[in-house]
Amino acid sequence: MKTSEIRSAFLEFFRSKDHTIVPSSSLVPSNDPTLLFTNSGMVQFKNVFLGSEKLGYVRAADVQRCLRAGGKHNDLDSVGYTARHHTFFEMLGNWSFGDYFKREAIAWAWEFLTGVLGLEKERLWVTVYHTDDEAHAIWKDEIGVPPERIVRIGDNKGAPYASDNFWQMADTGPCGPCTEIFYDHGPGIPGGPPGSPDEDGDRYIEIWNLVFMQFDRAADGTLSKLPAPCVDTGMGLERLAAVLQHVHSNYEIDLFQRLIGEAARLTGTRDLENKSLRVIADHIRACAFLIVDGVLPSNEGRGYVLRRIIRRALRHGYMLGQKQPFFHAMVPALIEVMGDAYPELPAKRELVERALKAEEERFGETLEQGMKVFEDVARKSGNTIPGADAFRLYDTYGFPVDLTADIARERGLSVDMAGFEAAMEQQRERARSASQFDSKATLPADVASALAPTVFLGYEALSASGATVVA
Ligand code: ATP
Ligand code: MG
Ligand code: MG
Ligand code: MG
Repeated sequence: MKTSEIRSAFLEFFRSKDHTIVPSSSLVPSNDPTLLFTNSGMVQFKNVFLGSEKLGYVRAADVQRCLRAGGKHNDLDSVGYTARHHTFFEMLGNWSFGDYFKREAIAWAWEFLTGVLGLEKERLWVTVYHTDDEAHAIWKDEIGVPPERIVRIGDNKGAPYASDNFWQMADTGPCGPCTEIFYDHGPGIPGGPPGSPDEDGDRYIEIWNLVFMQFDRAADGTLSKLPAPCVDTGMGLERLAAVLQHVHSNYEIDLFQRLIGEAARLTGTRDLENKSLRVIADHIRACAFLIVDGVLPSNEGRGYVLRRIIRRALRHGYMLGQKQPFFHAMVPALIEVMGDAYPELPAKRELVERALKAEEERFGETLEQGMKVFEDVARKSGNTIPGADAFRLYDTYGFPVDLTADIARERGLSVDMAGFEAAMEQQRERARSASQFDSKATLPADVASALAPTVFLGYEALSASGATVVA
């Protein structure tokens, strides 16, 4: 089954269960200044869960474009390292707004996976929140999953990958216990079942999360009950496609193979397994869709996240020996595989290509020199890149500090982040004393600001650049 067919099958299934099909919302949340990017399907419905917005329907389903490259959910550093994480991905979701609850949500998920798609039941594992006896009983007694494949999971304690069966979009807002469905890709792949000490592997891959939205978390951490309990589910399209296409890694699915092939062609790379090709294929999706959604490369906020992702992609191109602009030339292949599902992408093709090319030309001027500086520093400085050097790379050569950290990580080195922050602070002070006026305007990009919320000015920026804005 092709990725595009899976999208349709999912929507068709939930349409047959009386769900209203809604379009994907923007990567830039329109209803939530506290959130950097849309990181799951529920974001556009946040106010519906909170009870402050009413829709004309109580069941919905969609395919939502998501980005996890900043804020509470950040998978940027997993890209190229796991088989299952992207920065940009598509989430298949179905919702109940005070209508059905655990029983139907679980039964329909099972029916879709095993009935419609025909997944082998023996390969599916499920987790439930440790105190959620109700969900446990539904899985065991009504669905018939053997108890040894139903795992009770608590809250994770900050471990980056550890299963966590209490879902929250951010530190505040709607949240609740969840039950998750995992697929066993089979022996030979490292990793243990969910809840085991070696669960952080790629053998048992989480495909679907069903959240039972019951609470609203306040800034002080307290939970209050939502007006009506809701269901919020999210399933990674690329992970499901990998299962259905009998491949292990998301990067082996049809859509990614096309992008990887194009990246190989543009960089003259023969080895299609090269990690850099995967990173480039991942990053073109994130970057193109951010631009489609009105973000342009800049030195702060969302624009700085975009800039960081573009520069990471360019550095991977450089590693493959590509020193000329190539990244923008990935766009036609992207349109080929995603343009039908997202017509806004072909509609803004020119803008996307122009914005990427401008950034390539800009960073192209300093990337090579910066890499030489990095090599030099790495040779001299043992296990840790000094903060002052990371700052020089940032300030003079345009290397975002996470890019320097990423290069360092590949060589088993680390960056003195505290030292970098201190150098940054000194720079701020110099700027402050140099200007008694609006020091903000003259301050350099701040890594912290990339994580801070910004006002969405995207469409104005787009109009100003002469691009057509399609609603
Ligand atoms: P994981 O534990 O694998 O990091 P998650 O628990 O963080 O996933 P959820 O927040 O539950 O993910 O999101 C719902 C679904 O979205 C997941 O079950 C998975 O299929 C998919 N998903 C989550 N993060 C990513 C990602 N970075 N890339 C691709 N798919 C993802
Ligand atoms: Mg995760
Ligand atoms: Mg998880
Ligand atoms: Mg999850």
